[in-house]
Amino acid sequence: MTTEAPRDGATPPRGFATEQIHAGDIRDSAHGARVAPIHMSAGFAFDSVEQARERFAGEVDDGYVYTRYGNPTIAAVERKLAALEGGVDAIAVASGQAAVTVALLGLLQAGDHLLSARSIYEGSRGLFRDNFTRLGIEVSFVDDDADLDAWRAAIRPSTRALFGESIPNPRNNLLDIAAIADIAHERGVPLVIDSTLATPYLLRPIEYGADVVVHSTSKFLAGHGASLGGVVIYGADALADPVFARRTVASRLGPTPSPLNTFLLQQGIETLSLRMERHSSNAQQIAEWLEAQPEIVSVDYAGLPSHPQHDLAVRTLPRGAGSVFSFTFSAGFEAARIFIESVELFTHMSHLGDVRSLIQHPASTSHVQLTEEERVAAGILPGTVRVSVGIEDVADLIRDLELAITAVRSAAPAVPDAAAPHAAFAS
Ligand SMILES: *Cc1c(COP(=O)(O)O)cnc(C)c1O
Repeated sequence: MTTEAPRDGATPPRGFATEQIHAGDIRDSAHGARVAPIHMSAGFAFDSVEQARERFAGEVDDGYVYTRYGNPTIAAVERKLAALEGGVDAIAVASGQAAVTVALLGLLQAGDHLLSARSIYEGSRGLFRDNFTRLGIEVSFVDDDADLDAWRAAIRPSTRALFGESIPNPRNNLLDIAAIADIAHERGVPLVIDSTLATPYLLRPIEYGADVVVHSTSKFLAGHGASLGGVVIYGADALADPVFARRTVASRLGPTPSPLNTFLLQQGIETLSLRMERHSSNAQQIAEWLEAQPEIVSVDYAGLPSHPQHDLAVRTLPRGAGSVFSFTFSAGFEAARIFIESVELFTHMSHLGDVRSLIQHPASTSHVQLTEEERVAAGILPGTVRVSVGIEDVADLIRDLELAITAVRSAAPAVPDAAAPHAAFAS
């Protein structure tokens, strides 16, 4: 995981930090601009009818027609992301949701079955449930995604894709990608992994057998929290056709990113390794600090030895376990509410992977549409809080959390004694 595969027999492998800056780079031949310029143009002029024909026929690699089919700024970030994931092709799109859609509609049609982990991002679950089913695609979920027999048993003759996330949010119940890829491949079915929370710096799913990797680049890959984006990346031996996904799915449905947004994404990726190191080490220290607080019953961070999948994290996430995780107050909703409303440096908002530290209450936000039972099954209790730890000085972040826990403590008499972590929230 520390070095890139050689690009040819003669070239020694380059490290990740070098590749995040140089991979995919093509020097601008018109003016020598060192950074890939923002080509903000809907279309591209032709020199001749023959050239127009060649470009429309797809006979030339670097000839552009119209930005929905391809654009030099977008192509630069696609080359970079394919290289960083160890893939051979990448399709940049306008959001993470669009990436999940393009990846899966490139594999599925009416009558097919999609088998997904239940632990996935709620937006993706809603996409499958509310949209894919309307297109005639059957979807089912594996409740306990650590149970390999449950995956095996749920595959049907019509199953055409398996889907899951490398680091699920908010409980970090890591997917054993290598084991699930084996199960998928026994049946000739591709495995699609949403690796948004890991990024290629922490984990490269293709190396573990995944066929297709998707990201919401709105998160860590961009890092600045300024723009949305998504990407679909294909491995060399993927049981999936990137040309079909690009030409027939992405170009026809049209979730084209703005060249401005892919330029901003490119600026973010150039510092990815530095940010992910700091995100992970800050998160590790904060998770350890939270675990030592008597008001907190559990901290779901895979970097902690107390986490049920810590061994898998040690094996597959040697550079750190990322920065998004949850923890639960024993006193339930009131404690979580006071805590969230008392922090000053953490921002209370719905996003993750930002350089800024963020905090939110999953039961009343991302998971509000679930029934109480579904929330409890997913480990989202009224006292559960999610953080996305940023790259600020960790001492300042811990001071902010100390302030908030002091507020929880001083309100303790108001919290009923009998309240358990399950205590319903007062809404
Ligand atoms: C945010 C997110 C998405 C959706 O991405 P958008 O860019 O918001 O559309 C998909 N998967 C995961 C894991 C996410 O965190």
